Amino acid sequence: MHALNSDDLPPFADASESRFALAMQGTNDGIWDWDIRSGAVFFSPRWKSMIGYEDEELPNDFSSFESRLHPEDHDRVMKAVNDHLHGLQDRYAVEFRLQHKNGTWRWMLGRGRALRDPDGKPYRMAGSQTDLTEQKLAEEELRQARLAAEAANRAKSTFLANMSHEIRTPMNGIIGMTELLLNTQLDLKQHEYLLMLKNSAESLLSLLNDVLDFSKIEAGKMELDEQDFDLRHTIADTLLTLGVRAMQKNLTLKHEVAEDVPVMLLGDDGRLRQILINLVGNAIKFTDRGGIIVRVSIESRVLDKTTLHFEIHDSGIGISTEVQGRIFDAFTQAESTTNRRYGGTGLGLAICRDLVELMQGRIWVESAPGKGSTFHFIAVFGEATHDSVGRPAASSTGPLLGLAEKSMKVLVVEDGRVNQLVAAKLLEERGHRVEIANNGQEAVERVRDGDFDAILMDVQMPEMNGFQATSAIRQIEEKHGGHVPIIAMTANALKGDREQCIAAGMDDYVSKPIHSAELLHALERFMHGRAAAPPRLEITEPPAEATKPKKRGPAFKADAFIATAGGLEMARELIAIYAEDSGKFLQDASAAISAGNAVALYEAAHSLKGMLGVYTATLASETASHLCRLAQDGDLFGARALLEKLQKQCDRLGATLVNVDLSSFSD
Ligand code: ADP
Repeated sequence: MHALNSDDLPPFADASESRFALAMQGTNDGIWDWDIRSGAVFFSPRWKSMIGYEDEELPNDFSSFESRLHPEDHDRVMKAVNDHLHGLQDRYAVEFRLQHKNGTWRWMLGRGRALRDPDGKPYRMAGSQTDLTEQKLAEEELRQARLAAEAANRAKSTFLANMSHEIRTPMNGIIGMTELLLNTQLDLKQHEYLLMLKNSAESLLSLLNDVLDFSKIEAGKMELDEQDFDLRHTIADTLLTLGVRAMQKNLTLKHEVAEDVPVMLLGDDGRLRQILINLVGNAIKFTDRGGIIVRVSIESRVLDKTTLHFEIHDSGIGISTEVQGRIFDAFTQAESTTNRRYGGTGLGLAICRDLVELMQGRIWVESAPGKGSTFHFIAVFGEATHDSVGRPAASSTGPLLGLAEKSMKVLVVEDGRVNQLVAAKLLEERGHRVEIANNGQEAVERVRDGDFDAILMDVQMPEMNGFQATSAIRQIEEKHGGHVPIIAMTANALKGDREQCIAAGMDDYVSKPIHSAELLHALERFMHGRAAAPPRLEITEPPAEATKPKKRGPAFKADAFIATAGGLEMARELIAIYAEDSGKFLQDASAAISAGNAVALYEAAHSLKGMLGVYTATLASETASHLCRLAQDGDLFGARALLEKLQKQCDRLGATLVNVDLSSFSD
């Protein structure tokens, strides 16, 4: 047995070992010494006090240790001991939990080494034990604090994203109403003030959009929406819109895409446009003489991935080296005077950087003050599943007259008869086959057993609206495969609508009242399957017809109506069903007001707005649109008065329609 020379010293044989024991006393560590042959273990009093025991309270045998090991750590520790004894591990060092006398668990680090006889057989193993509990707690606290901070940051970003999204709705209202006001009788001062109001509202809206994008990225909610696209087409389209601004400043704006860059790529062309708009927009903003060149070349090609290098070169004011390091951070501008002179928020480049990173790339700048700037970014694109052969880009913008290249089977989902008729006629004249579903529910059923090339989906429908129907259809497809392109028809056509439509699983949208060119263009992109569809210009501004009020003129113009209807025959049919359709929706609206149901009122007013648009009844359609807004605000009292007015306008239109002399027009 061991004889103890002092309180805390094991019976080590030689001087170096007792020096070690002394050193151990200096640390706060416990020591142990295991006689493998007898099974006895010496635990120093410190070893025992580390887990709350007096020396005499714990027997000096292996089970004093083993029985206090945490069940989850037991096997691991035993394995470490065995591995060392069998020479598999040179050192024994392992972390584990030991139970304290008071029942709590303490984290320990055990370290030790075996002594072996001349045959290499271990006969003794000894070592130290360090208490890691405080350190582990501190680590855990840090980890928790980091998690909490990350969660708080995400919550902040989510909040920002939601807020900016919510604020956009009333902002659109403000802009829309300002536009309406601008078209009324105003004196010069009033007109000027209103223009300023509209400008401010528009810059606020664009700021909101930036904040929304930025916070979405921060909250980890930004995802790329990848599809096949024609890169040259995207670049040309994007620069076309920016060209106006360049022209106003007398700047040249050119682009060069290297010949070996593939025609079709797989990627998020919408976000690519956003990056280009930001960078080229900045280049125009900070350049007064000369021009801007956009260059695209291949950085590398590995398997099906193509990495492209974009360069946006300007001959503008340039950026100092010191500032270059900061401009990609959020809310930074080169100088505090920049904002006053050039406007902007300092968010654009931060968004670009994040988007480029989502595209597995990076962004950087080369510049010197007075020498212009070159912004570079690289981004990775996939291989398009369809090439552009067989679908020349021109056909997407080409003439829409005559028969389509190929007949498509189209499901029109629409609750208003007028709109059903308009859409069906238009499509049939192009040689497409049309089926009608009167509501979302019916659409879902049709999709189950019909094989459609595309669906035109009204958004506002009672019971199951277009969004709900779309997600039901997408769910079916998830189970059974396939993807039928769904094009939304919406009377709101604001920027947020596109997002909402895409989020709901729709592929595109057109605004109501339906314009034949726009509708056919949107539809026939999908003629050769979804992936081959060339991208369409993202609608960032409400289309003029949707929000810009027309000049007050006669409530109805027969020639315009016939033109919209696409011919006399159609005009005749529309006149025939006018009373029934308008009557139904007016009645729905009135019932909704009586029932205090703002949602139903909105739906009815919305349908009216769409159908009145078909009759080019600008005045009545505007009243219906106003009614929609009252419904959105829940102002049912105001709505009743307005509905009366609308009823009268509709009656007048009905009377006019009956008396239209179509014979004086020819097709
Ligand atoms: P902002 O909305 O202010 O334009 P950005 O993040 O797009 O925000 O740009 C940040 C700052 O970087 C700008 O305010 C400007 O000082 C500087 N900057 C960006 N592009 C250019 C450029 N092409 N030439 C000179 N300075 C630029």
